[in-house]
Amino acid sequence: GSALTLRGVTKEFNGVAVVDGLDLELRAGEFVSLLGPSGCGKTTTLRMIAGFERVDGGGIFLDDDEITGLPANKREINTVFQSYALFPHLTVAANIAYGLRQRRVPKAELAERVGDALALVRLQSFADRKPAQLSGGQQQRVALARALVNRPRVLLLDEPLAALDRQLREEVQIELRLIQNRLKTTFLFVTHDQHEALAMSDRVAIMNGGRIEQLADPETVYARPRTRFVAGFVGQQNFFEGIERLGAGDYRSADGIGISSQAAVAEAATAAIRPEAVRLSADSAHAAHAAAAANQVGGVVEAVNYLGDARQYVVRTEADRLLLVRSATSAQPSGFAPGDRVRASWRAED
Ligand code: ADP
Ligand code: MG
Repeated sequence: GSALTLRGVTKEFNGVAVVDGLDLELRAGEFVSLLGPSGCGKTTTLRMIAGFERVDGGGIFLDDDEITGLPANKREINTVFQSYALFPHLTVAANIAYGLRQRRVPKAELAERVGDALALVRLQSFADRKPAQLSGGQQQRVALARALVNRPRVLLLDEPLAALDRQLREEVQIELRLIQNRLKTTFLFVTHDQHEALAMSDRVAIMNGGRIEQLADPETVYARPRTRFVAGFVGQQNFFEGIERLGAGDYRSADGIGISSQAAVAEAATAAIRPEAVRLSADSAHAAHAAAAANQVGGVVEAVNYLGDARQYVVRTEADRLLLVRSATSAQPSGFAPGDRVRASWRAED
């Protein structure tokens, strides 16, 4: 069944809808990321779910119970904030125990649950420290333990890893996912980082202008984006505008590139090809007669960026547009150099 449901949820600030009839359904035990650019309404959405912000329209349901009007402390939902929001004067253990003390959980049970929560985030030996004596990653784990010790039905996380440096962030991503796997608590995880969302989630909800544009598993979102915004946000970089349909599966872009594709497109469509799906080959004389074939274009390498595991090329095509290409170093050890004439091609299914 669904653990959390939002139906037509709307929030206005000064007459402007920043969350605009938002629909979202999370299955029990699922890890869903809410992915979108800054200002698209992610935090406002979480605040309404948590009960910190009044809803102007629509309804919020936990399992099948409506919670739209309930005060925050009556909802079995907890939130982890980017800022950690730990009490600086309390120890790690006291921070984690805070919510249980408020609810007058008996002493023995409290000690056991705090111990379990400390073990869950591997901070048993830090129980008596103050937050200021911990690293950023450790403070984040305390915030997580403090939220989970209440055994919420849904855990909301608002960009909890944004303040961590890259290597630590990747470690905490893995750890967070393992914890969620173990607890099977439903997680709604907000991020503006598409790699983080794709790597961590069972499903990704891509948000734009106060609405969800697509909710699907990471592979679907990446390979079959439903809108141009979704495609761009998950890393598409080569767009062919003004697609004209010539016949079944046969199209042409505004700049004259033939495109064959199984995708059934409406009028005024845009095609996109991911940089890593484009193959480069040296342009030889006998390739010239193939110039009219679909899914390829000739050009000249304008720039090369060496990324270690891959090279990224900027190719200027015959029609004077820039095409971004990424090829694995292992597949093409020597690569191409600026000024090389190349043919860029891709498969119809890409
Ligand atoms: P995100 O978390 O996706 O970056 P937010 O939900 O924080 O976006 O904000 C969405 C929009 O709502 C932004 O334009 C923001 O300026 C506006 N907003 C958020 N909170 C308030 C508020 N309390 N008063 C007025 N405008 C707000
Ligand atoms: Mg935010």
